[in-house]
Amino acid sequence: MTATPPTVQDLPGQLPDLDWIADPLRVGRLSQDFSWFSPVLKRDLAGKRADLAVRPRTEDEIRAVVAACARAGIPLTLRGTGTGNYGQSTPLHGGVILDMSGYNAFGWVRGGTGRAQAGIRLADFDAQARPQGHELRWLPSTYRSATLGGLFGGGFGGAGSINHGPLAAPGNVLAVRAMTVEPEPQIVELRGPEAMLLHHTYGTNGIVLELEVALTPAVAWTECIVTFDAFDPALEFADRFGSAPGLQKKEVCFLAAPIPDYFTSLADAMPRGCHAVMVLVAPHSEAGMRDMAAALGGTVTYRKTADEVEASHKTLLECTWNHTTLHALKVDKGLTYIQSGFTPARRIEQIKALEAALGGEVMMHLEFLRTKEGAFNCSGLQLIRYTTEERLNEIMQIYRDHGVQINNPHTYIVEDGKQNQLDPAVVAMKRRFDPQGLLNPGKLRSWYAQQPQEAARQTA
Ligand code: FAD
Repeated sequence: MTATPPTVQDLPGQLPDLDWIADPLRVGRLSQDFSWFSPVLKRDLAGKRADLAVRPRTEDEIRAVVAACARAGIPLTLRGTGTGNYGQSTPLHGGVILDMSGYNAFGWVRGGTGRAQAGIRLADFDAQARPQGHELRWLPSTYRSATLGGLFGGGFGGAGSINHGPLAAPGNVLAVRAMTVEPEPQIVELRGPEAMLLHHTYGTNGIVLELEVALTPAVAWTECIVTFDAFDPALEFADRFGSAPGLQKKEVCFLAAPIPDYFTSLADAMPRGCHAVMVLVAPHSEAGMRDMAAALGGTVTYRKTADEVEASHKTLLECTWNHTTLHALKVDKGLTYIQSGFTPARRIEQIKALEAALGGEVMMHLEFLRTKEGAFNCSGLQLIRYTTEERLNEIMQIYRDHGVQINNPHTYIVEDGKQNQLDPAVVAMKRRFDPQGLLNPGKLRSWYAQQPQEAARQTA
């Protein structure tokens, strides 16, 4: 007689020293992220959850869980702190949530680089690096809670991308230390382009244990809001200031009317109906920024020095990027959003044409940045007055018809979100790191295209 293979429920008995979470409410919460921003994902992911969660604190504990799951063929879904937007850490096929937030030691800063365990919160990383004269090159607006591993596994960039591009720009992420999912897990250090094959793959092709990243000299950023009566000068200011090479900044966020009205706690700084630009500027560049704003008819209505920001625990960063969507959703639950990437040389023309075509239904929120290749550009996190999925798809098509790239936030499939072909090397990396296909199954379509029998098992 052959022994029955262990099930997921046997794991806590097998590894009793680990911090297991079995309470259905807590497991349910740990199975979710911010996919509810999308009515489409909210519907498609309803009821999807893990059977158990575990919060390892050491590499040995991670190895023990991974080995047990690999032996028993149990799916494993990695989680940082679950601030992702696309159901990235929601398991489609049950199994175990591997919560990495307890594996969070800071490593070191040496010269212009830093290293830490994947579960470290970005705010904690920055707090450790700043006294040594450096800061992270990009902070997503969720930096207070989001982890370094989660940003690498599911994120894009954030404040700072105006100087350094997205994480994916060569030279930003220098190395990862990663674990394979096998009965005898292996640990491998990947550097440079090879490390980037694990980036933005939703934890499907390797368990990232540590990251080494390039840093930038720390600056005591001043935070300002500049308001305008009209769309065009506000856009021109954001674009001119954003691209001005001599004016040092970390963030330029353009919010067309009526978006500023959703920030009820900033109503004094953003009069009803205004168009606003939120900036983080270096103290020595503030005068130049103000001159530019005044020349275009803008008014600086809000200003906080870095010390004032720290003392108040309130930062404009938490109004930018997808925090804009969060603030707006608190006021109007009928909204959703899209993500778009303009053509660098045609950005202003595209933005104005789309504002003319869809203004009212689509509200323009732009984040200024450099592309992976270094071109100055902006990407949109436009707010949408949601009616139906068909109309949402039509809006995204209208954007594409104007030559704008859509990074669809209403899908949990890696390839569909990125709107481009997946590098076959990503799938090869998955074969090396996750030969049984246990990591976050169902999210990497290209894997199933190469494993038809596996696809049939997953959809059964
Ligand atoms: P999680 O959501 O827990 O995980 C993200 C993905 O990474 C999952 O697929 C997970 O399986 C995988 N993963 C986690 N840890 C590991 C690991 N150790 N190894 C391998 N894979 C792993 N994103 C931006 O890029 N810029 C922004 O400015 C930004 N603003 C946001 C604002 C709001 C209000 C919200 C809700 C989201 C925003 N996001 C933004 C998305 C998200 O916050 C970031 O990508 C964040 O860095 C994710 O970190 P996390 O720890 O929450 O990851």
